[in-house]
Amino acid sequence: MKFVSTRGNVNKIGFIDTVLMGLANDGGLLVPEKIPQIPAEKLEAMSKLTYQELAYEIFSYYVDGEIPADELKALIEKSYATFRHPEVTPVQKIKDNMYVLELFHGPTFAFKDIALQFLGNLYSYVSNKTGESIHILGATSGDTGASAIEGVRGKEGIRICILHPHGKVSKVQELQMTTVDDESVLNLAIEGTFDDGQRIIKELFADVDFKNKYHLRAINSINFVRILAQTVYYFYAYFQVKKEKEVNHVNFSVPTGNFGDIFAGYLAKRMGLPVGKLIVATNENNILEGFIQDGVYKPGEFRSTYSPSMDIQVASNFERYLYYLLDENPAEVSDLMDQFKAEGRIVVDKELLKVVQSDFAAHGVEGEECLQTISKYYGEASYLLDPHTACGVAAYEICNDLSEVCVTLATAHPAKFNESIERCNINQTFPEEINQLFDKPQHLEVVEADKEEIARRLERLFSYSVQ
Ligand SMILES: *Cc1c(COP(=O)(O)O)cnc(C)c1O
Repeated sequence: MKFVSTRGNVNKIGFIDTVLMGLANDGGLLVPEKIPQIPAEKLEAMSKLTYQELAYEIFSYYVDGEIPADELKALIEKSYATFRHPEVTPVQKIKDNMYVLELFHGPTFAFKDIALQFLGNLYSYVSNKTGESIHILGATSGDTGASAIEGVRGKEGIRICILHPHGKVSKVQELQMTTVDDESVLNLAIEGTFDDGQRIIKELFADVDFKNKYHLRAINSINFVRILAQTVYYFYAYFQVKKEKEVNHVNFSVPTGNFGDIFAGYLAKRMGLPVGKLIVATNENNILEGFIQDGVYKPGEFRSTYSPSMDIQVASNFERYLYYLLDENPAEVSDLMDQFKAEGRIVVDKELLKVVQSDFAAHGVEGEECLQTISKYYGEASYLLDPHTACGVAAYEICNDLSEVCVTLATAHPAKFNESIERCNINQTFPEEINQLFDKPQHLEVVEADKEEIARRLERLFSYSVQ
């Protein structure tokens, strides 16, 4: 299996080089040259596998022998051994035709752990094989940072710098990142938004000399491994639902910010999984809703909401979807991305919009609606939704046909977002792992959202070992 750039100007590369390259060197995103097709008989056989066995089968299509089978299996085992639930991502039935896929049983209580536990182990594996140091640079709206740090802390040959928007993440998210006392971990709290952080790291990654000099590696969902690891639970959820109910397909409602998690669902569908509608659930930062309804993708004013991990205006994975929407034509993607840079928006015609609407539905959830959804399901189903999952459930209520089965992705544990839960007058008990964080000292540096200043701090963190 080879990988290519959405903009067409990178020579084909294999799986490990794709992981290491992160952002494609031409500024695009890496995608598989050809999406593997899983035949129906094979799907049937896969439905009986454990989560780890399923992950192995799906990863194998993309790893394509670059990691020997027993080593890949060991990496997968190790990555999911840190989860608190034996099924890794259990499916809960809430009511008839409505299910929730719990993705928060990993070490930092959000779905990012599913990909980042694996990616941390994979980086460590590559570093051991090649002797090369791995220097990770990432931006976070809150959960990726904690999860990436947890995925690599204490691993030899790895240093990590995470940019988070100062004061715009939840208390628990901040504590999870900043209470790690380790000289290989640097937390930069930037005076700006997630979009500022994401723009700065994309600029630093696009500076290929800087990237190569410091061996910069990506953990954001610009890295294809994030997407790949997240396709597994779409398969897993479908198989669990199918065990208790005869269905032709399953719809998914997905709380969305960077279009990463939902793109993983799109990829699963393209691989042959019977997925019906993919429902894009956003908060008031609802650019993606605008695109799916009118064909106009136009980032606007940043809004702080009750679901801070989705407070994102520029969805970097959107380019991967554009690539498939435009029939895998990199020249057209490049034109649209140039247009985006020049005019600040992307517009697609009526024909393409029809295609978009056959894959996706969308709903942007307002703050009060989010809180009401939390209260409603707590009262009626005794199930406590975190505010991101609540956006997913609210969008499910609006967009899903009642006769169809829908699985909403539960992307985080409510304890991570007590600021929003308290507003619903709900008193939750924190898991012990989260309670312990409140007594620990924090380690962070507050900086301006300035690329040069951030580059200087990175040089200080990374230069110790670069030969
Ligand atoms: C990151 C995150 C999202 C959004 O995921 P994307 O891949 O950026 O679309 C939703 N919910 C939670 C809790 C998250 O941490």
